[in-house]
Amino acid sequence: MKRDLAVGAAGGSFTRPHPMKHSVDELAVLGSPPAFSHKLHVGQPNPGDRAYFMQRVERILDSKWYTNHGECVRELEASLSQYLGVKHCIAVSSATVGLEIAIRAMPLHGEVIVPSMTFVATAHALQWQQIKPVFCDVDEASHLLDPQAVRRLITERTTGIIGVHLWGRACPVEALQEIADEHGLQLLFDAAHAFGCTHGGQMIGGFGRAEVFSFHATKFFNTFEGGAITTNDDELARRLRAMVNFGITGVDEVSYVGTNGKMSEISAAMGLASMRTIDEFLAVNRLNHQTYQRHLAHVPGVLLRDWAPLERNNLQYVVLEYTPPPGGPSRDDILRALQAENVMARKYFWPGCHRMEPYRTLNAGLPLQLERTEALAEKLLVLPTGTGVNLQEIEGICHLLSLMVGAGSRLAQGAS
Ligand SMILES: *Cc1c(COP(=O)(O)O)cnc(C)c1O
Repeated sequence: MKRDLAVGAAGGSFTRPHPMKHSVDELAVLGSPPAFSHKLHVGQPNPGDRAYFMQRVERILDSKWYTNHGECVRELEASLSQYLGVKHCIAVSSATVGLEIAIRAMPLHGEVIVPSMTFVATAHALQWQQIKPVFCDVDEASHLLDPQAVRRLITERTTGIIGVHLWGRACPVEALQEIADEHGLQLLFDAAHAFGCTHGGQMIGGFGRAEVFSFHATKFFNTFEGGAITTNDDELARRLRAMVNFGITGVDEVSYVGTNGKMSEISAAMGLASMRTIDEFLAVNRLNHQTYQRHLAHVPGVLLRDWAPLERNNLQYVVLEYTPPPGGPSRDDILRALQAENVMARKYFWPGCHRMEPYRTLNAGLPLQLERTEALAEKLLVLPTGTGVNLQEIEGICHLLSLMVGAGSRLAQGAS
């Protein structure tokens, strides 16, 4: 495995020693120096094949074709369609714009059922065009949209469901499709987390009416900023392609209201460079995840779930569910203590979309039933992975976590 590529990009992190701490007193939150000399972030970019990227950039500059469905975008779309086994792939400037365009092209209107357990962009893509996101609860174990809860939220105004393949795990696709068919609803998937992941052994990308990927710098596979809409529906694909480019359908011909959602050539070049290293990104994430699992297996209160063994997951998120053991520190105490060590762990997606504006105000007084979403928001802790962290660092993070969990109330004191 060409691990050197990844390590080079992380600033030679393989050779940086991390001093192991042996007792609670040595924790940074109690006044000692941090364990890591630089911040270990969640979502550090995975760089693709750098030499190839530079070569493509030279070619873009020479060609004087910077955007508008140029060579790199066409190549990337073809490559992604093939990789995902889907008929149409439309590269876009971000997943958010991709979602907005897909929502308008389908079209959705009125009310659309979405999980609150997602990044706020899923809800914003609806609200941006005056469509009401109706927040739905998730399954406690999978963190994915609960079909029974979806059923309960359907009204005469409902036109669709947006499922989110959270953490690269596929939504209950068949159950959601059945509900959609039964009620004449459209089904769209926010696949921002799910590039290179499977459902029933089939690559995510061809489910529902359309799926939308994010290639934001923090995602598993990135084009700096970018994304893609995928679909097997010819008619929808035609409309999507036009809407991404101002609704233009021919020379001097505009057929729809459209926007500018085009991916630029330089972003597509990054995508092509990343396609060449995607197996390596995956191998690194697998090893990272196994290392976390091995070293956290016996830490009380910490649950790092196994992935469905028969499915492929890109493992871009290491998601812990933390339930404080008796007398143990809270999730937020742990988070603060980790950050003091330069382990920039994150809460996801705290406090939940429905408790952020404008949704908090819009839903004020409504009896939202999001108990599982709210319970998860209090529990989750996402740790750094990807090509930007090495195994030694991961072992260090796990060791620090076990010290912290065993520190009882002393961590809380350290924070005050
Ligand atoms: C990252 C993300 C988005 C937004 O993607 P952009 O490409 O940054 O617009 C949407 N939904 C989810 C679930 C995400 O994680």
